[in-house]
Amino acid sequence: MILLPARDRSARRRHPWVLSGAVARVLDAERECAGEWARVVSAEGETLGYGHYSPASQIRVRILAFGKEAPDDGLLIERLQESVARRAGDPLIGETDALRLVNSEGDGLPGLIVDRYGDVVVMKLGSAGMSARRALLTRALREATSAASGFERADTAAARREGVAVHQGSLWGAEPEPRVSIRERTRRYTVDLVHGQKTGFYLDQRDSRDLVARLAAGRRVLDLFAYTGGFAVAAAHGGAAALTLVESSAEALALARENVAAAPGVPEAAFFEADAFRFVRQDTGRYDLIVIDPPPLARRAGDVQRAARAHKDVLLFALRRAAPGAFVLTFSCSHSIDAKLLRQVAFAASLDAAVPVQVVRELGAPADHPVSLDHPEGVYLKGLLLRV
Ligand code: SAH
Repeated sequence: MILLPARDRSARRRHPWVLSGAVARVLDAERECAGEWARVVSAEGETLGYGHYSPASQIRVRILAFGKEAPDDGLLIERLQESVARRAGDPLIGETDALRLVNSEGDGLPGLIVDRYGDVVVMKLGSAGMSARRALLTRALREATSAASGFERADTAAARREGVAVHQGSLWGAEPEPRVSIRERTRRYTVDLVHGQKTGFYLDQRDSRDLVARLAAGRRVLDLFAYTGGFAVAAAHGGAAALTLVESSAEALALARENVAAAPGVPEAAFFEADAFRFVRQDTGRYDLIVIDPPPLARRAGDVQRAARAHKDVLLFALRRAAPGAFVLTFSCSHSIDAKLLRQVAFAASLDAAVPVQVVRELGAPADHPVSLDHPEGVYLKGLLLRV
């Protein structure tokens, strides 16, 4: 894989992606086929590193090793073992049996996501390179985790992008039940590994769930975009006075009801299968703790302005429902909305709602979702804890 002149900067800065626009030509068409190791070479002929080749993808190579020495698949196994080992007993992650074991580029394994839910390990393959190594990764994971069963969750969008076949199903052990029970701190959740969003649960919001549990005592809580009730359950554990959940997916909301029912009793709990953007406009309730955790609203860079407006609107109306002293947690999981823009959105909402707010804390993904400094694109979840 020979790069165009002056297109070696990114690889020299150890960025793991070689984009299609940077490629001059393929070195050796026989060996550089989908998923295989490709050597990345500057226009001047210097070997910069080695990575997995994705001929169909905009991300043409995902570099796993920089420098002149050619790695082999043993490198993946080593990194996978390290990723799993690093998390064992990590005080930053804390007491939970549900966590991310491998976070793609953040763990030096671009294209590989592995989440653990109790005795089940869920693997998601997002690149031609990782898809080509399904059997190897399965063996390594089984050994590194000693989990009773392994399951592959299909990443349909990635399969299309990478030009590989969609694959979902059991990897080892008994076919796992679609629904498993997990324990995070003292909280219990039922997770649907087969039909649920992501790999079943928003593991990336654990730190913010802890925060909500700490803040919730005596508060009336509004959980917008509630999914299966991650935040609402945390609020129940924290002694919330009332819960209101709003979620557009009937399946997710049904599971949220079960999860809330299994949590410490809250005097009042209301569940709305509704569009949260519309709900906040029409609602007349008063709340002391509001969580706003929408799906990615900007899928492409071109959507940023529209997405920022949507974030602003929902926050604006939420602030009008907030009692004095209320806490509001607002999140964006769109790559193209960065922390700075989220603050600007919060500022605009606060100004238009005529509700002054303090920024109390910046929020984000927990320690089992590390981001490599070489790969800033790995940051996606941003949030603010605001106080009215
Ligand atoms: N807070 C959740 C995760 C939210 S993900 C947790 O911590 O578990 C975003 C959720 O918003 C998804 O469950 C999705 O089904 C829901 N959603 C998407 N569009 C919506 C809309 N317009 N109104 C309400 N919910 C919506």
